[in-house]
Amino acid sequence: MNQNLQSAKPVILLNIDSLMPEPLEVAVQTGRAPALKFLMDNGNYISDMVTSFPTMSVTIDSTLLTGTYADKHKIPGLNWFDDSKNEIINYGTGFRETNKSGLRKTVHDMLYRLNNEHLSSQVRTIYEELADKGIQSASINSFVYRGNTPQKLQVPGLLRGLTHFKDGQWTAEAPSIFSLGVFSKLRPRSIATQIAAGNYKYTGRELRHLIRRNKLPGFTFCIFQDLDFRIHFKGPMDIKGIAKIDRQIQKMLNLYPSWEEALNRNVWMVMGDNGHAPMGSSYRNFVIDLRKIFKKHRIARIQKPIHKKDQIVLSVNQRMAYIYILDKKLPIDVIADQLKNDNRIDIIAWKADDGIRVESGMREGSLHYSPDGEYSDMYQQTWNIEGDPDLLNLKLTDDKKILYGDYPDGLARIYGALHSQPGHFIVVNAKPGCEFKAQSTPFHLGGAAHGSLHRQETLIPLVIAGTSIKPEHPRLVDMKAFLLELVDH
Ligand SMILES: [Zn+2]
Repeated sequence: MNQNLQSAKPVILLNIDSLMPEPLEVAVQTGRAPALKFLMDNGNYISDMVTSFPTMSVTIDSTLLTGTYADKHKIPGLNWFDDSKNEIINYGTGFRETNKSGLRKTVHDMLYRLNNEHLSSQVRTIYEELADKGIQSASINSFVYRGNTPQKLQVPGLLRGLTHFKDGQWTAEAPSIFSLGVFSKLRPRSIATQIAAGNYKYTGRELRHLIRRNKLPGFTFCIFQDLDFRIHFKGPMDIKGIAKIDRQIQKMLNLYPSWEEALNRNVWMVMGDNGHAPMGSSYRNFVIDLRKIFKKHRIARIQKPIHKKDQIVLSVNQRMAYIYILDKKLPIDVIADQLKNDNRIDIIAWKADDGIRVESGMREGSLHYSPDGEYSDMYQQTWNIEGDPDLLNLKLTDDKKILYGDYPDGLARIYGALHSQPGHFIVVNAKPGCEFKAQSTPFHLGGAAHGSLHRQETLIPLVIAGTSIKPEHPRLVDMKAFLLELVDH
């Protein structure tokens, strides 16, 4: 579509994987991130946008792009169990675990099935909605990419054996401008430096290619993946990673006559996707081995198909886990009680009595809640709540308002995870400093991890420059509607 016919400016949304408010502020204040500083000084800065749950990239990006939580978009996490097909899904959680469950299957799950089978056909991505209005989009470096333009993805030479496709080539429905590491490139002769996603330099070059050729569409979504990896090992306050990505943004702004002109011509938005919780350093105290808790039960092995005698499947997403109960004779409260004996386990939630029951290894008592009730929260959602609100650190006021504490938008986000898939299962969250482990799960002692509902991992920064419009109670789940309004008003 001809850019001049559009009334709105092109919107560029940069998602810096694991960018957090505090290190961002430190980087900006100490002169390490001049481009981000410029955008913050000349725009709006929000330090507490609420992300999705589990706080894992694929679930978060699905929420951002569809405007729904996992109950609707149906991407439960990086690691989950598909009860309808009796199969463990892992989009790639770490080398050891990935190797056991089969690298070939992981690559196929991540690159193909996530978008073509798992992401619900009942929801629409922002790319699909914009295309219907005749507005083009670009997706750079995002594993969640569903659009409605057929695009060829090509797995290069040596890696061809890793896919289920003939000659390593297949067609996916994607946005009209589509870049994903080695699989689909905007600059045909460029070399992507990482097997899967492009690194920050490659990502920056792909986006600058669009700017230079005056090809920015109505909406561009671009992910920088590198920071997450660094923070897992170095801890949350890694400033160097932010400085490196900032240099890429400087180069984008430098393509315009002035940085101010870059804002006159486009809306620039920068966000993080999830926070990180610092991890304790001793294995014994901080790694919760779920196989030990359930040692009396038969747990499915990840390298084998599910056996008819398997009673439990464990799907760990760092600081959260799904515990699936396959054995029909095993009551869900018996499993929950075993979890409650470990005081490093925080929220334990499952579907019960037409609603959701919440207990905890850290607190006594229980809470039961369901949607559409007499209490209302700041997001205009209403709930029935019975029992002890402390379980979710909620404050209930005399005029029936709900105030969230340590678990922002906790009621809707737990509801989302518990309705993300059919089957009989429990959602658990680890206490700050701790994370879960099952068979061959990667862990992050002395570094940082995410996945849980806690505010540490939930509150993400959002910078909006080039427009004065900003969301009122910023949540990631509301970003799609906000972006649609910006791109097409
Ligand atoms: Zn991560």
